[in-house]
Amino acid sequence: MADDRSVGRSKRRGGEGREVSRRRSLPPELGPAQKGPVARMFAPVAGFGVTISSMFRPSVTEEYPYEKVPTQPRYHGRHQLNRYADGLEKCIGCELCAWACPADAILVEGGDNTADAQYSPGERFGRVYQINYLRCIFCGLCIEACPTRALSMTNEFELSGPTREGLIYEKQDLLAPMLDGMLAAPHPMVEGTDDDDYYRGDVTGPTEGQVEWVRKHRPDDPTLKTAQPQDVTPTGGRR
Ligand code: SF4
Ligand code: SF4
Repeated sequence: MADDRSVGRSKRRGGEGREVSRRRSLPPELGPAQKGPVARMFAPVAGFGVTISSMFRPSVTEEYPYEKVPTQPRYHGRHQLNRYADGLEKCIGCELCAWACPADAILVEGGDNTADAQYSPGERFGRVYQINYLRCIFCGLCIEACPTRALSMTNEFELSGPTREGLIYEKQDLLAPMLDGMLAAPHPMVEGTDDDDYYRGDVTGPTEGQVEWVRKHRPDDPTLKTAQPQDVTPTGGRR
């Protein structure tokens, strides 16, 4: 095939004779390697040599999924929507992550916090949050864009499923689990704090006032049993 093309090109250039004479004049060391008679005889089964020699080497195949090899600590896996220590959500529904995403994999709809339903510090929270893992390329640009460090990436890599819908993760699939001592949102912010105090890490857990509020509005909330009220002293003011 290559010869036909080269001949065709040389014909188009009107130089067929010149091309043939150049090929004939190649020295033997520059031509195709010549095999000896023994090598030619074993050539059809030579590929089995690799297979047979590999049979006696130790297996390096991982026994996945029974044995999972740990990923690197900064591996980009499934996303997580983080919480503050008192249980309020860090996401403020600003949509910056969605704007930063090159694959258009994130959908965010913000909502207003109210006195009866405060999900995050400040005025807004992420009411709808979806990540489409059929689109995501795990580049991490979304977590770089997040102004409140609400979004991070875990090391979880088992993201597959039989349906397209199942790979669109909703907010409840992405929210960080409640840790011991946290109080489930919604509930008011810690008394006397603003969102800057939260961002600076001054809030180290729910306060007695927040626990009382949840006890009054959701007496059956299971996190009431494990919440550990703290004394929170905001540093106050903007820096
Ligand atoms: S990791 Fe990249 S592709 Fe995936 S949601 Fe974030 S910005 Fe989009
Ligand atoms: S995850 Fe961060 S960037 Fe995305 S909407 Fe929430 S606060 Fe904004």
